[in-house]
Amino acid sequence: MKQQASVSKIRRIRLNFSRSHVIRPTIRQMHGYVPGEQPQDKRYIKLNSNENPYPPSPRVAAALQQALSADLRLYPDPVANLLRDKAAEVYGLTRDHILVGNGSDDLLTMLMRTCVGPGDRVAYPVPTYSLYDELVTMQDGEIVRVPFPEDFSLPPQLADVEAKLTMLCHPNAPSGTLPTLAQVEDLAQRVHGMLVIDEAYIDFADESALPLIHKFPHVVILRTFSKAFSLAGMRVGLAFGHPEFMRQLLKVKDSYNVNRLSIVAATAALEDYAWMQQNVAKIRATRTRLTLALRELGYTVYDSHTNFVLARKKDSSQEPIYRGLKDHGILIRYFSVPELSDCLRITIGTDDEINTLLEAMRK
Ligand code: PMP
Repeated sequence: MKQQASVSKIRRIRLNFSRSHVIRPTIRQMHGYVPGEQPQDKRYIKLNSNENPYPPSPRVAAALQQALSADLRLYPDPVANLLRDKAAEVYGLTRDHILVGNGSDDLLTMLMRTCVGPGDRVAYPVPTYSLYDELVTMQDGEIVRVPFPEDFSLPPQLADVEAKLTMLCHPNAPSGTLPTLAQVEDLAQRVHGMLVIDEAYIDFADESALPLIHKFPHVVILRTFSKAFSLAGMRVGLAFGHPEFMRQLLKVKDSYNVNRLSIVAATAALEDYAWMQQNVAKIRATRTRLTLALRELGYTVYDSHTNFVLARKKDSSQEPIYRGLKDHGILIRYFSVPELSDCLRITIGTDDEINTLLEAMRK
């Protein structure tokens, strides 16, 4: 009886809540970002979220073991100086150039909170990482989408938008493509506000835009440990930029945004940089093999500088292929938006995983 009473009370509260106007219209109208499927029911060959098929350095597990016996009662260092100092050493910066995030998504949120108010323009070439849309919308900012040409080269008119923030996914997701450093530098010279260069996948490419932060105080670079360092589960990202700008970002950071274990894990991963590079070399070799095999199957495959490829069969919906592969226990990424519905995005797995994928696709 008592239980029933409390259930009906909850129902009444929910009903009232749904009728109230406490939710900002912006949020009410938002779809919300839809992350890639992370199935917990059965084991798939998982080629849909650009995770690394190889494990992180054994030094990560050893460091975590030690950290577990340390005092988890205590809050972590709010600014993660252990990791900032290691990153400063590895990337030739000072700790003041570096901010640590709970994944680079957290850093993207901080950037938007810091720079974008109602009506402020944020420009980026599309299609790209769709989280940008959600974050700008949350701030009531104005999204200016500048379409990529068919070859995914940088659209020259991007810098003409008088945007407070210009986002450049570098290399781009989901195309995997990368402009030259000279083209990025030209963009940095021409943009009006801040230029955020999201380098989530740069470790799989040849050339980073990192040196630009020394030339341009309005350039910020984002990195993540989720891809090349095999630590998607730990949620750690880094922002590199001018110390004065970093101080502004710091003001909008959640107080303890990165937990003790994640700080330790990312620091250990940087201490074994060579391990990451070995995994990257394997992934790049598999990437070449997959690209050629997909081209033989009739796909247009963009030259990828990441740990995934985008394969297109012009004007032919790829949804049946995605579904067929899923039925075979192979998960890849299909985007239902019209401009990508003739594409498949495939994460580079191990050689065995890619062989199984190709066998299934050939059938
Ligand atoms: N940027 C891009 C382009 C991405 O694809 C991702 C991963 N989905 C991220 C940033 C965020 O990565 P994380 O939050 O795991 O660091």
